[in-house]
This record gives sequence, C-alpha cells and structure tokens, in this order.
Amino acid sequence: MARLAQTAGLTDIQREILATVKDFVDKEIIPHAQALEHADAYPTDIVAGMREMGLFGLTIPEEYGGLGESLLTYALVVEQIARGWMSVSGVINTHFIVAHMVRQHGTDEQKRHYLPRMATGEVRGAFSMSEPDLGSDVAAIKTRARRDGDTYTVDGAKMWLTNGGSSNLIALLARTDEGAEKPHQNLTAFLVDKPEGFGEVAPGLTIPGKIEKMGYKGVDTTEAVFDGYRIGADKVLGGAPGKGFAHMMDGVEVGRVNVAARACGIAIRAFELAVDYAQQRRTFGKPIAEHQAIAFKLAEMATKVEAAHLLMVNAARLKDSGQRNDVEAGMAKLLASEYCAEVTQESFRIHGGYGYSKEYEIERLMREAPFLLIGEGTSEIQKTIISRGLLREYKSR
Ligand SMILES: Cc1cc2nc3c(=O)[nH]c(=O)nc-3n(C[C@H](O)[C@H](O)[C@H](O)COP(=O)(O)OP(=O)(O)OC[C@H]3O[C@@H](n4cnc5c(N)ncnc54)[C@H](O)[C@@H]3O)c2cc1C
Repeated sequence: MARLAQTAGLTDIQREILATVKDFVDKEIIPHAQALEHADAYPTDIVAGMREMGLFGLTIPEEYGGLGESLLTYALVVEQIARGWMSVSGVINTHFIVAHMVRQHGTDEQKRHYLPRMATGEVRGAFSMSEPDLGSDVAAIKTRARRDGDTYTVDGAKMWLTNGGSSNLIALLARTDEGAEKPHQNLTAFLVDKPEGFGEVAPGLTIPGKIEKMGYKGVDTTEAVFDGYRIGADKVLGGAPGKGFAHMMDGVEVGRVNVAARACGIAIRAFELAVDYAQQRRTFGKPIAEHQAIAFKLAEMATKVEAAHLLMVNAARLKDSGQRNDVEAGMAKLLASEYCAEVTQESFRIHGGYGYSKEYEIERLMREAPFLLIGEGTSEIQKTIISRGLLREYKSR
C-alpha cells in the first residue's frame, strides 16, 4: 500500500520489521490463503516461517529471548498479516495476549519458566474466558476451581478457545472461593499446561474438536471440558487468587488493539482488491472506476481505512506510553471493525457477480469481517466501555 495506512515516527527497526513482514505476507501468505482457507487447513508452513522470523517473541523482553518490541510494532505486524489472511493473525493473537499477561502479572518463576519458550514459539498460548452460556458477561463465569491444599480441582465447560487444540498453554479464567462480595473478585487466572491435540489431552481435560465456522478457517477454535482436572496452586497467575478478572481484562485491552489492527488489515486488502478491479472492469465503454458512483465508493473506503488506522495507532501508542487506554482501545476496536465490515461490503459490491465467486478473494474477506464485530467484545460492549470511561472523565459537578 503506497499511500494509505502509513505510520509517522517509526524507528528504523520498526520499519525493517514491517518491510520483512510485508514481503513475507506478499510472497508466503497471499498466494496460499485462498486454497488453505477453503480446505480449512492449518497453515503449518506459514506458522513455521513466522517462528523463524521471531514473531512469536516479538513483544517478549530481550532478557527472555524475545525482540522486546512495543504494542505498536505488534499491531502494525498484525495489520500486515491480516491483510494477507486473518486466520494467520489468529494463530499469534492469543499467544501474544497470554505472553503479555505472564510478563505483566506472572511471578518471577512463571516468567522464567514460560517466556523464553514462548519467545521461540515452542510454548503457544490460548486464552479462555468464554463459556457456552456467556461471553460478554465475564463476571458470570461458572467454571469452578476448588482449592484443596496446594491443588485446585477444576470443573466446567469453556467455549470458543482460539488455538484450543494447537496450543500447549491455556490462560484459564475460573471461579474460586475468595469470599469477595463482587463476583469478579472471585475469579482467578490459571496457567494450564497441556499437550497439543484433541480428545482427552490430560486427565480431566478434553478438547473435543474444532468448531465449524463460517470464516476464520484454518485456525482451530474449540471447546474445553474440565472434569475433575487437577492443577497446582503454583499455576495461579502471579500467585494471586481473586485477581484473574483484572489480569484477563489487561490481556483483552491489548487484544482489542490487535483486533482493530486485524480489521485495518482486512479493510486495506478489500480496498486494494476493489481499486484494482474497478480499473480493470469496463461497463458502458469505460472502466467502472470512471463512473462517479464507484469512484466515490473508493474515496469513502480509503477514508475509512485511513481513519481506522490512525485510531488503532493512537490506542497502541497510548498503551506503550504506560497510560490507561481502555477508552481509546474500545474506540479503535469499534470503529475499525465497523468500518472493516463496511469497506469489505463495498469492495464486494464493486466486484459485481464475481464477488460472489469463490475464485475471488473478496468472498473470503466477506466471511472474515463479521468476526471482528464480535471477538474481544462486541460493538455494544465497546460502546459500554467507552461511555463509562467518558462519564468518569466528564463527571458533572
Ligand atoms: C471465532 C471466535 C473465536 C473466539 N475466540 C475466543 C477466545 O479465544 N477466547 C475466549 O475467551 N472467547 C473467544 N470468543 C468468544 C467471544 O469473545 C464472544 O463470542 C464475545 O465476547 C460475545 O459473547 P457471546 O457470544 O456470549 O455473546 P453475548 O454476550 O451472549 O451477546 C449476544 C448479543 O447481546 C449483546 N449484548 C450482551 N450484553 C449486552 C449489554 N450489556 N448491553 C447491550 N448489548 C449486550 C451483544 O453485543 C451481542 O450482540 C470467540 C468467538 C468467536 C466467534
């Protein structure tokens, strides 16, 4: 993309990383995405390439073997990857969130144990809050972990674990008995080690299989059933029972910037496809791009791409500067995902009948974009977060 979605003030290292990733996306992801997606096949070679580039350790501090890069670098990398194929960004997203949580909230022992192997991609993270009966209402979690001495016993069903089968570490949010009045203060985050794969992967832990999805294929999304699963108290994140809600929300906050970045990537690709197609396809004696109705669509799409990118970059930079960014991350996620759905839809229309053909990339983007309206909190939940933050800030005297 020559003109749109540029980012001012990047360091030489950031520019170098992005150029390498863009090259990888153009050569190794875009040419294979359509076939892999239609086959619902895990992108094994692409993931191996990302491991080689060190992307699993992009934000992990150098002392633990990572590249020590910022949230902004990560978000710009994700934008590029999602431009190629959103599922590939899904492979690293939950990993990145779990690595962030371990780095921010883990004990020294947990950091030393997990981060070096997370940096190489040997340990790969999944993130588990949602259950069959709840997604938005996190504080209502039913999965229970009962303590008996140095061990907890976990019972309950989890839903929608992205990378549930392909990961070997789950950040799990469960209810413990802390005796706190507020429901969210009785939630605890656990680091659950498990082998990759499906079926009963450990005594008392079953990963039943992949959930069939309309898009976001290739990457596995699963359930997880805990039935008398035993886990040591040393696996409580940060050794701090009752702090799980705050730990997971911190993870979700960086996750929201990442979802905004994914939406930007898909919107950029939808625009690229549309602007190219509109110059090739001729009707009534001229390229359709020369009909003002189509040219104006392109202008509006590009403006949305640009606006979403700027808001996403702003939210990432705010978090990198150490400031609270819940409102800005919510705004970026809300705007980028809604614009992504609109831009994708317009690109689809510009493609005419061919947009409905599986031969054209836009049909895949049309199935991917809706997920971004839901994942890491729906648009309604973003509006709730944004309005609460605003009312806090603009409290009337
Ligand atoms: C492909 C996929 C991958 C996922 N990956 C993960 C993952 O890795 N880990 C994980 O933990 N979860 C994951 N999720 C779950 C996802 O986070 C939830 O689906 C999402 O948070 C919405 O929750 P829900 O589906 O239970 O919808 P609900 O919470 O039941 O919401 C249903 C509708 O009601 C609206 N609504 C709910 N409450 C309110 C309110 N207070 N005010 C106004 N409107 C409201 C919602 O906006 C929505 O429109 C994934 C989901 C999908 C589809």
